[in-house]
Amino acid sequence: MLSEVKQRIKAACQRADRDPDDVKLVAVSKNHKIDEIQEKIIDQGHIILGENRIQEWRSKLELENIEWHLIGNLQRNKVKYCLPFHTIHSLNSQRLADELNKFGKKKNHIFRVLIEVNTSNEPAKQGIAVNKLEGLHDYCQDLDNLKLDGLMTMAPYGTNPEEARAYFVKLRELRDRLGLGNLSMGMSGDFEVAIEEGATIIRVGSAVFR
Ligand SMILES: *Cc1c(COP(=O)(O)O)cnc(C)c1O
Repeated sequence: MLSEVKQRIKAACQRADRDPDDVKLVAVSKNHKIDEIQEKIIDQGHIILGENRIQEWRSKLELENIEWHLIGNLQRNKVKYCLPFHTIHSLNSQRLADELNKFGKKKNHIFRVLIEVNTSNEPAKQGIAVNKLEGLHDYCQDLDNLKLDGLMTMAPYGTNPEEARAYFVKLRELRDRLGLGNLSMGMSGDFEVAIEEGATIIRVGSAVFR
C-alpha cells in the first residue's frame, strides 16, 4: 500500500537523519492495469510512476499529468518514443547515449538520464561495468542534448537487504567520485537500506500495490 510505503520511507529517513523530501518515490506500475494504478496510486495523490517496457508504458499514456520514469532497458529503435519521460534510468552504452543525443537535437529536447551501473558485476546484468563507468560519464559530457543526472543500480536478484547494502554503498561512492546528483537505488525488498545509504530516488513496485 502506498500509505504504508510512505510511512516506511519516513521512518527510514528518521533513522538516517534525512529529510523525506529528499527521497523521491517512483511507484513502479509495470504489470498493473490502468484502473488499478488509478485507484491504488493516483487517487491516493501520487503521480510519479515508473515503467520498464516501452510498449506497455505507451498503453498507459491516457493517464494524465504523470511524471513518467523509464527504469528498464531501452533499445535504440525506441528512443523516438521517449520524449515524455521525466528521467531515463537505464543509460548503459555510448551507442544509446548517441542515439538519445541525436534525437534530442532533432526535437530540441534535453533528455535527463541516469547511468545504470552493474555494481555486482554479474555477467547477465543490464548496467554498464564499473570499470567502464567513467568512460561513459566523460563521453556524455560532450553531448548537449543529454543531462546526466546521476546513477542507478539494482542489487542482485534474491539478495537480502543487508547484502544489498554493499552495492548501494558502492553506487554512492561512484556518484561522489563523479560529482553527480541522484542515486536511484532501492526496490520493495531493500528500499529502507537504500535510503540509509543515500538513495535520492527509490523504485518501488510490489509493495505499493499490495
Ligand atoms: C520492477 C522493478 C522495480 C520494482 O521492483 P519491486 O521489487 O516490485 O519493488 C524497480 N526497479 C526496476 C529496474 C524494476 O524493473
